[in-house]
Amino acid sequence: IDVHMEKQTVDFARDAFLTGRSQPLKFRVQQLKSIQRLITERQGEIALALKQDLNRSQYDTALSELIGLENEISLAVGKLSQWAAPRHVEKNIMTLTDQVYILPEPLGVVLIIGAWNYPWALTLQPLIGAIAAGNAAVVKPSELSEHSASLLKALLPQYLDKELYPVVTGGVPETQELLRQRFDHIFYTGNSTVGKVVMEAAAKHLTPVTLELGGKSPCYIDKDCDLIVACRRITWGKFFNVGQTCIAPDYILCEPSIQNKVVEGIRNTLQEFYGPDPKSSPDYGRIINLRHFNGWLDSSPTVVMDVSPHTRLMQEEIFGPLLPIVTVSDVGDAIRFINGKEKPLALYVFSSDKKVIKRMIAETSSGGVVVNDVIMHYVLNSLPFGGVGQSGMGRYHGKHTFDQLSHHRACLIKSLGMECINMARYPPQDCSRARR
Ligand code: NAD
Repeated sequence: IDVHMEKQTVDFARDAFLTGRSQPLKFRVQQLKSIQRLITERQGEIALALKQDLNRSQYDTALSELIGLENEISLAVGKLSQWAAPRHVEKNIMTLTDQVYILPEPLGVVLIIGAWNYPWALTLQPLIGAIAAGNAAVVKPSELSEHSASLLKALLPQYLDKELYPVVTGGVPETQELLRQRFDHIFYTGNSTVGKVVMEAAAKHLTPVTLELGGKSPCYIDKDCDLIVACRRITWGKFFNVGQTCIAPDYILCEPSIQNKVVEGIRNTLQEFYGPDPKSSPDYGRIINLRHFNGWLDSSPTVVMDVSPHTRLMQEEIFGPLLPIVTVSDVGDAIRFINGKEKPLALYVFSSDKKVIKRMIAETSSGGVVVNDVIMHYVLNSLPFGGVGQSGMGRYHGKHTFDQLSHHRACLIKSLGMECINMARYPPQDCSRARR
């Protein structure tokens, strides 16, 4: 690798940031609209790259990456002046005549490291927020989705300011070289082992991080539930992108009495979605590479019943088309099971019983929780998306990305008058005056 190249790219981005040109709102809006133009004009090429990387259908490309990006852009363009404006806050008696506000300001140069499973959404979505917040940003797409990475590298400079928003491609050595540089924020999406590498590198420069990680997202199915609807929604969320989704339901928890019905419901839905041979269905994706086969599965959708909580299947995030079912005796048992593991990125609950729903939410913790559906919280950009504990730190989507990639500067603007009210805090201390 060319060590100087990574350093030079970051230096150029910083120099460009220091010119101040990323800051005027008009410029930010213009760059955001350019990303919109890129998506509109190049969607055919993007879909082709995703077909080559993940066998993703054109329909799913729009559904899983492009529509979300377009929504983010139009929200940011529409709301930017509001988001970037000073936020006036409550005053106390000492500041009644002053101006008191929080001013969001750019952090500087942001490093965005994306994962391969949604290569466009996971790089451009943070980039949209970084631009909206007035930052420069270095984008590092995953080398595993190589067609998308090289297309991103070819296209982005044609639409955006080249120095402010460069793309660096490459694998681990290139990423490590980037991580040696000083950034003002690092936004990383990927697995938690590398998350720790990123955080360690960031600590050397006291750089704040957003870590969008993964983990085992549980899916509890209550016996009081429309199982046909539940199984259809779960099957869609689990087998979309062949299970390679950070918020895919990782495993099912249910009582033994409904286990057979759950399996039947999923089997029927799989048949409905992908026909008798999913691997030959144009609507079924592909595993990214051999490493992700994990050694225990082929790419066919598989449901495993009566899985022991101690098996390997229940230790690591599956990230493939394999869905274990662990039986529990009741909702309390399910809650204990969930709380016995790391806090997940998402928790799914299927039930018609309000008490069960309330209890599940009150007695567990997770990045996000969805009742009677899966994945759909990701699409709603008013909700913050992110993990807690081992599933990550920080949040994004919509205004949350803007806030995440801004410094919230405390501003107190006083006048030089009214000195009489300040006398109490100046020495020499006069106890009788203080008491009075
Ligand atoms: P990956 O292998 O593409 O790695 C992600 C990035 O890290 C890449 O850009 C890669 O170059 C870099 N990288 C890999 N090893 C490195 C190292 N040793 N040092 C420095 N950089 C390195 O992606 P992955 O980790 O396989 O992604 C899958 C994981 O990401 C899953 O755990 C999934 O749950 C999680 N994920 C989370 C989200 C989220 O939004 N929370 C979204 C997608 C994926």
